[in-house]
Amino acid sequence: MNQSQPPGLLKNTIPNSATINALFDTHGRQTTYLRLAVTDRCNLRCRYCMPAEGIDFAPRDELLSYEEILTLADVLAGLGIEKVRLTGGEPLARRDIGLLVQGLGQRFRKLAITTNGILLPGQLDQLIADGLTNYNLSLDTLQAAKFARITRRDEFAATWAALEALLARGVNTKINVVVMQGSNDDELADFVALTEHRALDVRFIEAMPFNDGDGNHHLFLSATDILARLRERYPTLAPAPGEANASALHYRVPGFRGGVGIIPAYSRSLCGSCNRLRLTPKGTLLNCLYSTQGLELRPLLRAGAGGEDLAALIVDFVRGKHATGHDTERIEQVAGGAFASMTSIGG
Ligand code: SAM
Repeated sequence: MNQSQPPGLLKNTIPNSATINALFDTHGRQTTYLRLAVTDRCNLRCRYCMPAEGIDFAPRDELLSYEEILTLADVLAGLGIEKVRLTGGEPLARRDIGLLVQGLGQRFRKLAITTNGILLPGQLDQLIADGLTNYNLSLDTLQAAKFARITRRDEFAATWAALEALLARGVNTKINVVVMQGSNDDELADFVALTEHRALDVRFIEAMPFNDGDGNHHLFLSATDILARLRERYPTLAPAPGEANASALHYRVPGFRGGVGIIPAYSRSLCGSCNRLRLTPKGTLLNCLYSTQGLELRPLLRAGAGGEDLAALIVDFVRGKHATGHDTERIEQVAGGAFASMTSIGG
């Protein structure tokens, strides 16, 4: 793999990979969080993510089985992964996803999901019982007709019902809003208003230009612009403490029950504290959302690789993580750009 070490960032204190059982990179960061994409299929067709006809979905036998995922989960738990987030594609669209949640719930104290919520209400109680602790609901608009335009499916009522089900149960809930100029940027303040009386965080995400989306460069609003727009309506919006290694900048309107986050997914200003690793539905481990060079684990699993061998390869792979998403893009992207859809990487 082509690795570059930005001068001055290489720490002498990093343990030798052969002697450690944790995932450190050469920039002094420890990886403790896995984003696990379980399928590339989705029941929506969000314009910024996928074309109307979908993408070239992976054949089922190319997806990691639940058994293979749990084998890797054991290896990764042994390497210090503490939190796992299920994503995709739509994770709840994978058959018998409850079985995987059960298995992961027995291994990780923090188990999260990013979902459009359409399939959530009927299985929420069981998912909570099986250890799914944190719920991020993707909802880009509060208007049903606009929801149908953005997602190409008339499912606003189902996603809203999922939000109500989550709030009724008092579980940790966040709404993810991809901000698109000229589409939903007139609703930013309406989303913040949801946090006045609800125990809910709303997080605004910079739109990323993925090739399989609809070339959404023209829709981009930066984290700085988003904050300025929010402060037009809420001038008292103030920085708030957030989790260490957070991917979002945190704010709160004084007196409001919930919080506001801004995720600089494209500006990549929070890479310095990144603690994340990604596993695609086909079993490729990626150090970054902007990676194109991953560690192919599926052939190793299917060839019967043992836990220790897998662990050693993963430790070495994570050591090679680049300092920032900009570095990753510059070093790993092929000429002309080769971004896939978020649905095959895992958002
Ligand atoms: N289907 C699930 C959902 O809707 O939450 C999980 C997968 S989805 C790819 C994960 C997150 O990525 C969603 O919040 C989605 O809005 C976001 N996303 C997808 N494409 C994006 C893009 N081009 N820019 C920014 N966020 C994107």
